[in-house]
Amino acid sequence: MTATWTDETTAAPGAAPLATLDARAISAWFGTRKVLDRVSLTMRAGRVTALIGPSGCGKSTFLRILNRMHELVPSAQLAGEVLLDGVDIYDTGRRLTDARRQIGMVFQKPNPFPTMSIYDNVVAGLRLTGVKIRRADKDALVEECLIKGGLWREVKDRLRSPGGALSGGQQQRLCIARSLAIRPRVLLMDEPCSALDPTSTRVIEETIAELAAEVTIVIVTHNMQQAHRVSQQCAFFLAENGAPGAIVESGDTGQMFGAPVDQRTADYVNGRF
Ligand code: ADP
Ligand code: MG
Repeated sequence: MTATWTDETTAAPGAAPLATLDARAISAWFGTRKVLDRVSLTMRAGRVTALIGPSGCGKSTFLRILNRMHELVPSAQLAGEVLLDGVDIYDTGRRLTDARRQIGMVFQKPNPFPTMSIYDNVVAGLRLTGVKIRRADKDALVEECLIKGGLWREVKDRLRSPGGALSGGQQQRLCIARSLAIRPRVLLMDEPCSALDPTSTRVIEETIAELAAEVTIVIVTHNMQQAHRVSQQCAFFLAENGAPGAIVESGDTGQMFGAPVDQRTADYVNGRF
């Protein structure tokens, strides 16, 4: 089932236009084992989409397919299309960095470069994706990204300290700031709070809510309250009895939690499995 929206969201002035990411009939394999079966989902511009479902149902695999990380696994295969505003990110004529530059990723375990300074961590993403920026613009970019990541006030007097010296929650916000430096149009987050304490989790949820005005966000979460709080659109993945993962139900978050159509969705969102 593919979610649809009737209203339109527009980007903040000066920002890149908000992007819609459209996954069409995505199937995925590791070797001969099929782990996703014809998953279709439209992740609309300016929305937060939450991917929910039990462990092993293919949420991380799906997320990695959305920015071409899946193909880093030698045994991985893929069918289907991922369209960013109608353009296939897997088009062989397009360079891999084109996709990565537009689609950032934040992982479950905060992974800043530990010995690199906070400042250099933020600009590191630029180098990795080949984005060039004038030296004079770097300070402003670092400040902007740390503000958006919700970390600026805590670190502005120690930008030269190593990223590894921060707390877990601060490290994750640093990773968010680093992913924002390339000015992605889509931000993918794979259980970004599951290694964090409740206070850090709250701060990151507030950050997500603010970022949603300028970046299309897709977040995998095991925390149903979190999915409910941060997302406007939701997709429930399930891999039943060893079958490959598929979407059971997707749509408006309020409706998925308040009046799910499928009994399995109702059971899952109410914590019955
Ligand atoms: P989820 O994120 O929902 O827990 P995953 O996408 O991580 O699920 O995994 C889906 C299935 O794919 C699981 O059965 C998992 O064991 C398998 N899988 C994930 N990554 C790999 C890999 N690199 N090689 C082989 N199998 C994998
Ligand atoms: Mg996962």
